[in-house]
Amino acid sequence: MIIQVDTLLKNANVLTMDLEMHQYEAGAVAIKDDSIVGVGNEVELLAIYSAREVIDCKGNILMPGLIDAHTHVPMNLLRGLADDLRLDVWLMGYMMPVEREFVSPEFVRLGTKLAAAELIRTGVTCFNDMYYFTDDVATATAEVGLRAICGQSVLKFPTPDSPSYEEPLLYARNYIEKWKGHSLIVPSIAPHAPYTCTDEILRQAALLAVEFDVPLHMHIAETALEVENLRKEQGMPVIPYVKKQGLFDAKVIAAHCVHIDEGEMRTLGHNQAGVAHNPSSNLKLASGMAPISKMLSLGLNVGIGTDGVASNNDLDMFEEMRLAAFVGKVSTNDPTSMPAKVVVNMATNMGAKAIHMGGITGSLEPGKRADLIIVNLNSIHNTPKFRRDPANVYAQLVYAGKSTDVSDVMVNGKWLMRDHSLLTLNEEELLLEAQEYAHRIDAFLIEREKSLLSKLVAIEGVIEEESFEIQLKVRISDTESVLDTLKKSNIEILAHRKYRQYDTYFHFEAPEPGNIRYREDEIIDIADQPSKDLPSKIRYRLTLIGQAAEGHFPSDVMLFRSRYLAPATHSLRFYREYFDPCAESVIEKERLRWRVLFKGTEFYINLDHVFNPEMGFFLEVKSRTWSRRDAEHKAEMATELTKFLLGGEPENMVTKDYFELIQGASDRIENED
Ligand SMILES: [Zn+2]
Repeated sequence: MIIQVDTLLKNANVLTMDLEMHQYEAGAVAIKDDSIVGVGNEVELLAIYSAREVIDCKGNILMPGLIDAHTHVPMNLLRGLADDLRLDVWLMGYMMPVEREFVSPEFVRLGTKLAAAELIRTGVTCFNDMYYFTDDVATATAEVGLRAICGQSVLKFPTPDSPSYEEPLLYARNYIEKWKGHSLIVPSIAPHAPYTCTDEILRQAALLAVEFDVPLHMHIAETALEVENLRKEQGMPVIPYVKKQGLFDAKVIAAHCVHIDEGEMRTLGHNQAGVAHNPSSNLKLASGMAPISKMLSLGLNVGIGTDGVASNNDLDMFEEMRLAAFVGKVSTNDPTSMPAKVVVNMATNMGAKAIHMGGITGSLEPGKRADLIIVNLNSIHNTPKFRRDPANVYAQLVYAGKSTDVSDVMVNGKWLMRDHSLLTLNEEELLLEAQEYAHRIDAFLIEREKSLLSKLVAIEGVIEEESFEIQLKVRISDTESVLDTLKKSNIEILAHRKYRQYDTYFHFEAPEPGNIRYREDEIIDIADQPSKDLPSKIRYRLTLIGQAAEGHFPSDVMLFRSRYLAPATHSLRFYREYFDPCAESVIEKERLRWRVLFKGTEFYINLDHVFNPEMGFFLEVKSRTWSRRDAEHKAEMATELTKFLLGGEPENMVTKDYFELIQGASDRIENED
């Protein structure tokens, strides 16, 4: 009896990617509704099935669609925005500020469609995503007809779709309820990474994933720094830490896993967690090479991902397959490791298992959804073809094949691309709309880069607080006489502290000259405190110092405007790479500081010993001010106070030249390089 089906693909070189890696040449696949009903030799299948649509594959490869195991599809709109940077500078300095400004439901729908067009062209039929406004990512994906796991991001920072973390958890709950059971979309929750989440977020996310039996998608152990910091803060590496938060109660998809040890791999294996390997992203961000061969030998399911295009910069799964093979070989110093056959499996059937979708996709087997691609091998770069060894065809795909060889793509029994033409997307429209966004983002960043201040406030966690102060600086030969005068005087002392200050100054030239100071303040002793066992306290602060003084009074008293941005939440290295100063200088000093009342007005008196570089002793008198008239009055008083402290006319005034002195120190540092 002849069985009627919808589509019959014949005269194909069928790579089933099933457990036994069956190949059929000439082979055929029969499809009814959304599923595969028959796979095998063409002669046998033609005897059983009859279809309204019979397609001659002309001897080309017919195989399961590729699985992109980790990506951020809406970020296609940010491709090429900022490159050649370290992960934290790239993420905190560029991606997150731009995302906060631009990411909206409209943005993610367009970005998703742009990515979908690229994914279909590279032969991807299913992707595992993590982003914001996930309901819109899912809507756009379903409209295009691709299969996907769409994960709602949760972070401890404000994100484009929520000012706090409770909201994305609530959003995720509603979103999962809405999409659970959809024929193409699997909803999921995606706590971004250990360093962007709290214990509580991880626990709540895991509970939610368990409650709805959906995957939990997370970046894990991507960089050595992440592991080092977690060891310092939690006393353990990443996998034990997330396990402690109950993460493995859920179906975990762990992206990256570059820096994990064998014990951690075993924990992933015992808990049926899948791994998403992202060779391009790891290479480009110099994150390291994930120990994939080891993971495979321990039986882990490892898929291959592109990561978002902001860190790749494309979604080409053929390139990822090739890199996975090459990186695997070079990292083990063994050309026999990561053979092409294994790599194609990782990009298809094993990849589907890694993202917990192995039951419905990843291989051409009866009962699975019809997610498949045709790859044309009749091109110069694919010629000639050898069939002596059945593994030849996998090597051809991985080492010679290109994404442009993919001619036809079907998902869930529906064609999305026929003979290189996309059927569910308008590429011309997408190109125009995407370029419009790029113009707007360009304008935003150009404006931001114009001033140090706007660049500074763009970074997450920085608070702007403007202040004006009058300042008077004198170089002195020693501190003794000033200390004596202060002791004997009846100036009222409100507070007294001793600091060791390590200042790093970043210097800038046009268009906006200025200095940014990164200060590490260590309180080493507090006077008038009988207790000697006060813990030493270190704080980090970042201050933008305008180069140009706002005003100049008699006796070299200057009015400065400074914008304190406290505390500095990132590392010195982060700020250095983000601001890219033209020169840098380091000043180390010991500071005695008094807050005093002088004739009813509050002043700060600083006695500094600048010992690195050895610049000697300085007396600084300053006071905060709020108006021009107030500044004039305080300038006179500051001069009077200084005269009093020095017991005469101040001779060696350096207020105006102090930055030049520092710049001099910086020149020396540059010359040393
Ligand atoms: Zn990622």
